[in-house]
Amino acid sequence: MMRPVGIYIHLPFCERKCAYCDFPSFPGQLQHRAEYTKKVMAEIGERADRLGSLQVDTVFLGGGTPSMMEKGQIAAILRQVRSRFEVLPDAEISCETNPGSLSEGFLEELKGAGVNRLSLGAQSAHADELELLKRVHTWEQVVASVQMARLAGFDNINLDLMSALPRQTWEKMRVTLKAALELAPSHLSVYSLIIEEGTPFFARYENGEMVLPDDETERAIYWNTVRFLEQAGYAQYELSNFARDGKVCRHNLNTWRYHDYLGFGASAAGLYLGVRRKNPDDLFDYLQGVAPAVDILSPADARFEQLMLALRLVEGLSLDAFVRRQGISALKLWPEAIKAHIQGGLLTLTGGRLKPSRLGFDLMDRALLDFLP
Ligand code: SF4
Repeated sequence: MMRPVGIYIHLPFCERKCAYCDFPSFPGQLQHRAEYTKKVMAEIGERADRLGSLQVDTVFLGGGTPSMMEKGQIAAILRQVRSRFEVLPDAEISCETNPGSLSEGFLEELKGAGVNRLSLGAQSAHADELELLKRVHTWEQVVASVQMARLAGFDNINLDLMSALPRQTWEKMRVTLKAALELAPSHLSVYSLIIEEGTPFFARYENGEMVLPDDETERAIYWNTVRFLEQAGYAQYELSNFARDGKVCRHNLNTWRYHDYLGFGASAAGLYLGVRRKNPDDLFDYLQGVAPAVDILSPADARFEQLMLALRLVEGLSLDAFVRRQGISALKLWPEAIKAHIQGGLLTLTGGRLKPSRLGFDLMDRALLDFLP
């Protein structure tokens, strides 16, 4: 019996571009939302025609800013998903939102469409950091959005936060974390800022206008964050993700566990039966029907991908799950590298799992080079 798949749907519209953002998102193109909705629904229908009515255990509406979609569009997309796939009764259905564009009407629509998890891009409790990031909202709007979401009946709420910002200290980060905890979210994602080429931040960084915390400070902020959140009852389950009461993001967890998922919308990627499909990044290429890039993964690539994704997780790689998926034992495939990194203290082997240690989390990028195909 096939395991259920996840579904990712990309909704790429934004009010304006944040200064660090290199995601495929398109400010100033709101007039294309209706056409885009139709296109996504058609894509869902075409894939279902080919794949049949697969069982679905998670749906993730990401962006972009899904909360900028027009009334009825997300509900229509989710109706299409439910009519063409078998969405399980206990499926997790998540939607990303921006505190600058959340409304009661939108939340009501999500609730009615079966969305049961909200993710809010909060980023920082400091006005100067929100301004630097060119976010379109204030922290007061984050607080109001969480209250509005609770009133609308959402109790599974994630806040996205950012760390390693220019001039950030642990004290400053702690203020943001404290403010976030006061809102009692069920989940927190805390991502370190990465300067991506082509963004306004990249130019400022190259000019020397923007100074980031050095490696030592960045690592100290990271581990202080982990400790701070764990003391507050949020268990770390992935490099940058924390949940209380077991409220992990099932969609992302399944992706890191290398389960299959389908992607719909501009730039959306999917992995199904060893084939990776990626739609064109550009909004207009997607609307005009440019075909997705299709990559049949070689066994070596698939094995490396599964290992790499699993080592982001505190639970690490299940050796049984690896054999089931890849038909070969990870211990037989990489005996030398595994031995060396266990001896070096980056990995541990316990309970049938290869797990990253704390040092492993710090040095994983380097360690993975020894597993490359
Ligand atoms: S809201 Fe998100 S997707 Fe949109 S520009 Fe900002 S970071 Fe990028």
